[in-house]
Amino acid sequence: MASGTRFAPKDLFNSPHLSDVTIHQIKDNQTTKYYGHRAILACHSAWFSHAFSGNFKESSEATIEVHDDDPKTFRTMLEHLYDSEKTDDKIACQMLEKDASLNIADNLVLQVNAYFIAEKYMVTTLASKAAMAFQLLAKDIKIQDLAAAITAYYDNCVSHGADLGKVISSAVLNRSTRDWRTSPATFEDLTTRYPIFAVDMCHQMQRERRFPVAKTLECRECGEDSLVESRDISKYPSRCTSCGYDQIFRG
Ligand SMILES: [Zn+2]
Repeated sequence: MASGTRFAPKDLFNSPHLSDVTIHQIKDNQTTKYYGHRAILACHSAWFSHAFSGNFKESSEATIEVHDDDPKTFRTMLEHLYDSEKTDDKIACQMLEKDASLNIADNLVLQVNAYFIAEKYMVTTLASKAAMAFQLLAKDIKIQDLAAAITAYYDNCVSHGADLGKVISSAVLNRSTRDWRTSPATFEDLTTRYPIFAVDMCHQMQRERRFPVAKTLECRECGEDSLVESRDISKYPSRCTSCGYDQIFRG
């Protein structure tokens, strides 16, 4: 507790001071107890807000039980609820990002877990921070580290187009395709196992304009119109679709 009368919500994290609810976080018959503060919990979590205000049993009880969450991830989310005043997203997500005891693959999986628990408890601020932290972490990593995160995300993902799905697809697109050859999990394996991943990849390619743009240009050999992929025309010879003659087209 901070001294004096002024204190921030984060000073109340798991503090009995002003606590008006006890959280029993239960996983595999292990219970972790937290001192909670309804007003703070409800501020950034629509789940807690509903639980405390509706006709639910929890709304008036002194104890609330939550089930099935990984204890470490749940704690991360609670800490976030008590510390979401922080307006600088960069600082906040660097805190989320830095767990020095973890290797990069585990750190990425941590962000995936934070993202999912944020969805469950409807904490939009945490979901966007986890996606941003993932993006920062994924800049210079090996494809096998990314493959572990893809598995962690798409094992539980139910719909395409989510923020983290976009971040993951973008990270994949920015790796060299050569990287996949050294990875035990191939791109083909992952897209076959997770059709939602395939859809996310495809949509991200379109967003990043990765599909070649075709142009119709006149062939210098036969004079016919030829359909040419415009990305390469000024550098590499393209084959005329009418006569088959290889040439560097001038756009
Ligand atoms: Zn031609």
